[in-house]
Amino acid sequence: MEAVSRLNKQLHFVLVPLLAQGHIIPIFDIARMLSQRGILTTIYTTPMNASRFGPTVARTSELGLPIRLVEIPFRSDVVGLPHGCENLDSLPSPDLLRKFHCALEKMQEPVEAHLRQNGPPPSCIISDRAVFWTADIARKFGIPRFLFNGMSCFSQVASHNVDQHFRSDPEYYLKLGATEPFEVSGMPKGRGLKLNKSQLPSTFKAQPNLDDFRMKVREAEKAAHGLIINSFDELEGECTRLYENAIGQKIWCIGPVPLCNKNTLDRLDRGNKASEEVKRCTEWLDAKEPRTVVYACLGSMCRLVPAQLIELGKGLEASNRPFIWVVKTRGDEGTLELEKWLREERFEERTGGRGFIIRGWAPQLAILSHRSVGAFLTHCGWNSTLEGLISGIPMITWPLFCEQFINEAMVVDALEVGVRVGVEIAVKFGDETKVGVLVKDREVLRAVEEVMSGGEEGVERRMKAVEYAAMARKAVELGGSSHRNLSDLIQYVVRALSLHGKDMKV
Ligand code: UDP
Repeated sequence: MEAVSRLNKQLHFVLVPLLAQGHIIPIFDIARMLSQRGILTTIYTTPMNASRFGPTVARTSELGLPIRLVEIPFRSDVVGLPHGCENLDSLPSPDLLRKFHCALEKMQEPVEAHLRQNGPPPSCIISDRAVFWTADIARKFGIPRFLFNGMSCFSQVASHNVDQHFRSDPEYYLKLGATEPFEVSGMPKGRGLKLNKSQLPSTFKAQPNLDDFRMKVREAEKAAHGLIINSFDELEGECTRLYENAIGQKIWCIGPVPLCNKNTLDRLDRGNKASEEVKRCTEWLDAKEPRTVVYACLGSMCRLVPAQLIELGKGLEASNRPFIWVVKTRGDEGTLELEKWLREERFEERTGGRGFIIRGWAPQLAILSHRSVGAFLTHCGWNSTLEGLISGIPMITWPLFCEQFINEAMVVDALEVGVRVGVEIAVKFGDETKVGVLVKDREVLRAVEEVMSGGEEGVERRMKAVEYAAMARKAVELGGSSHRNLSDLIQYVVRALSLHGKDMKV
């Protein structure tokens, strides 16, 4: 370990996200929360990703908050990635994942050099779990490293339990059919869930060309000082303690982090420049009755085939309710095909003032917090799930991949604030065409109806959604569980540094 002799009174947290929207967005929020506590934060990312977040950082700096965004070139050229492919949302094929991680690894040297040349010395690193090489930097600087992976404790403890079960009884796993449901063992009361093999996160799938990276990630996490979770204790119940025990590391639930975006501009620009239609969309929403609009968005990485998206559009149309549909599909070809259908069907004319299509990046947080939005049709990415919860509206769940089926179970079965469209199998990256259409328009219509009307059950669902939103707000307020956990994390860093003779004050 390198001895850092200089004593520094300035706490300096370094944040290194994985280059994917679902990971970068919450890391930026965490950086803002820390800078609001007077802590200098430096976020390392690449030029293309930095351009998406530039306005957010500029606004934060204008407020006098100590936040720095440092651009590190992404060496796509060296590893043979297409130019501009700096975020997982622009990766054209899963075959390029290895090259993507190779380019990511090449950021280590410049990040380290930048840290040495640009003081003050770092106090700790908050790194995405996948960015394993930050463990080496933390070791050289003699500072703690905390992991962030953008998932809930509930989903991580569920994955952990499934993994343990399969290891102890591999025969059971082999005999299970791909869509045969099984009960996840070891879950706390009120958090039970059933899954099938096809719904398990991709870490359960063999990916031989990524095995060496996965091993480095596992090795690096052993030395981590703990996990930072974008969630709150009241929501996770016993799962946090269970997962802490399982991994033998401390967990700090400090969310929901999107709640740090207090003003409209921050919510509008979050994650990327909002598309051109935004202003029109806000006016459109203003003219609608409270809680009447269905907002449909399947995340930043949706690659469903046009035929599947068409079913979604037809279902929304058939609901006869106002809706916002965020359209994203597979590459240029898919976009052309979907646009052709929209044009030929005169979909936008047909749905008149009732439907609003957003092409490209939607200001999701701003839309969800609008009083006219009454339900969220979501793919159950953890960020979107939390954003739905803090908005106090029920959800229609359409999981695609990763741990999204586990999040769906949390929303529908544990929290009782959602209704499934009824997807049974995951659509893994690259398999979209093979899988084709899984959900028909009538399923979308049924789920929308159940959530928007749904009689007594519907009313109860809506009331519960409002309660969770209130609970979430309380958690981040002064004295709330997440507020306290963030203070505790900062104190932990101060203590860890003073053990190494580096005096800090908060
Ligand atoms: N998002 C957005 N506009 C879009 C698509 C996504 O603002 O058009 C944001 C969304 O609010 C969330 C993040 O991107 O914060 C997506 O993360 P999530 O975990 O929900 O899903 P992923 O995209 O990683 O599958």
